[in-house]
Amino acid sequence: MLVERSQIPPEGLDLEVCEEPCWEGVEELWLSLTPVEASFHLEREVNGILASGTFSTTAVVLCSRCSEPISIPLSDSFTILYTEASEAFRAEEVELSAAEMDVDIMQDDRLDLTKLLRENVLLNLPLQPLCRADCRGLCPHCGINLNESSCRCGVQAGDPRLLPLQHLL
Ligand SMILES: [Zn+2]
Ligand SMILES: [Zn+2]
Repeated sequence: MLVERSQIPPEGLDLEVCEEPCWEGVEELWLSLTPVEASFHLEREVNGILASGTFSTTAVVLCSRCSEPISIPLSDSFTILYTEASEAFRAEEVELSAAEMDVDIMQDDRLDLTKLLRENVLLNLPLQPLCRADCRGLCPHCGINLNESSCRCGVQAGDPRLLPLQHLL
């Protein structure tokens, strides 16, 4: 979804968006992602658009240890100044004065809300999702899910330093 700078009235523009995440190139990061609900407040700045808002969605991803699907709610707020390319240097100064604010380059006087949402969803996706903090993962030998049952691989493997002595035990 694109918003032209000229579409934003002087008092700003509030938008409620429900974005179906048909985002090429990132689909393999999750099993599923519910439509992204977002609210935006857009304001015209001298040389760009100031976009702030919140989003929420739920991603189903695989636990990085046991590979079980887990549902992870994602939500966050954002404030981003979109500036014209020639104003990028000035934008860095703005960023210094408002450390909380991100700065991005605006293309053709338009703001791509889809791209903004995609970036924010990706930023909030855990790199190593866990089904629970103490997930025991899969046995590296037999592949059994150690959260659900146990195996004797660990016992048999024992301490690798003792392996040369194992026939003596
Ligand atoms: Zn797990
Ligand atoms: Zn095992």
